[in-house]
Amino acid sequence: MQIKALKGMKDVLPEKVELWQYIENIMRYYAKLYGYNEIRTPVVERTELFSRGVGDSTDIVQKEMYTFKDKGGRSITLKPEGTAGVVRAFLEGNLYADTLPCKLYYINNPIFRYEAPQSGRLREHHQFGVECFGSKSPSLDAEIISLGFHLLETFELKNVRVQINSIGCEKCRPNYIKTLKEFLNTKKEFLCPDCLNRIEKNPLRVLDCKIDSCQNAIIEAPSTLNMLCEECYDHFENLKSYLIKTNIPFDINQKIVRGLDYYTKTVFEFVQSTDNGFLTVCGGGRYDNLISELGGSYTPAVGFGMGMERLIMLMPQEAKTNTNGPDIFVCNLSKENFEYSFAIIQKLRENGIVAELDHNGRSVKGQFKYANKLNAKNVLIVGGDELSRNMFKLKNMETGKEEEISIDGFEITIKNKL
Ligand code: ATP
Ligand code: MG
Repeated sequence: MQIKALKGMKDVLPEKVELWQYIENIMRYYAKLYGYNEIRTPVVERTELFSRGVGDSTDIVQKEMYTFKDKGGRSITLKPEGTAGVVRAFLEGNLYADTLPCKLYYINNPIFRYEAPQSGRLREHHQFGVECFGSKSPSLDAEIISLGFHLLETFELKNVRVQINSIGCEKCRPNYIKTLKEFLNTKKEFLCPDCLNRIEKNPLRVLDCKIDSCQNAIIEAPSTLNMLCEECYDHFENLKSYLIKTNIPFDINQKIVRGLDYYTKTVFEFVQSTDNGFLTVCGGGRYDNLISELGGSYTPAVGFGMGMERLIMLMPQEAKTNTNGPDIFVCNLSKENFEYSFAIIQKLRENGIVAELDHNGRSVKGQFKYANKLNAKNVLIVGGDELSRNMFKLKNMETGKEEEISIDGFEITIKNKL
């Protein structure tokens, strides 16, 4: 019997890997441009890292984690998000002792959540994320939003806006929570069972419940923005003016609270509006207390996580076209020349030219079909009358233009043309 992949887990087959590599290259380029360095952390961590870091009452910890006992009886968990592991590594690797802020990114980070698989929702997905540790300045919130904005712009995502909000801090939030609870208690008959539970455990999360009837019930919910303390208010005002000064368009959405407990002050999401509603491609915010909650000294921080599969899903088709075929496909007019052509592609490769030929004895017509399938940019035709005159024929597959080039120094001639 054939064995299938687990539900909600996907292979990236070679035809798609090129697109992934293209996206990864651009992500790395932008991360560098903004001064972020890569960090890689293990796929599994001690379960308590997430129950303490992400929060016991969140959906992720309560329902979605892949948690196992290892052979030594320890409870371990596959990463359900990227930040907690990076914070642990920052502390364990003494990165806090270097110059701050410490700017880190991760890419292709596998994230596991036991969710109901559906379009745009996998059980293993991958994230690109950035984290900036060691500054409470709102200019860094703006910088991180700017990085996300320009990245998504490069990928040509349509109708994406960044929505921002502030959920306050330990000084002003308790007062807001109290007011929110009072409001929610008047709406109990309209709320889903999950939200009824959340009223006591995690009332902020009612605000981003995805069920329509809950959303209708909370249209008039009190707003955090009206109840911020002076520090949080100033932080939010400064963030807005940095975004305006750097031409980053944004909307304020007072229903954005984010699904993880660790956020303080700024929270944001990059959201695409489609005919079927909204889809979030990237979410993040400030988490000034997480590092101290995980055993470090007070270190304010801000970051985001971007779903790479979600990004690919939302990219327009024309932004995904694969242009990465070989520079040269060598076409053999007669089978006797194969060994000669085999040496030719090797010579091309030694000169940094991506080259390919047919190993399966296809006809000339078949070889051209194959070259097209591979997206070859040029075909070098070996054989016939040209070969007897010490020449090759070179065909540009985009323009259809043909020319003859001398066999002497052909690799240099081709290199200069590419
Ligand atoms: P959602 O509200 O859609 O469940 P989330 O708040 O759980 O998202 P985050 O924890 O902020 O998501 O993760 C950051 C990004 O990772 C999301 O914006 C999304 O692009 C992506 N993502 C989250 N969960 C999944 C999933 N199950 N499958 C694919 N991508 C996901
Ligand atoms: Mg989720």
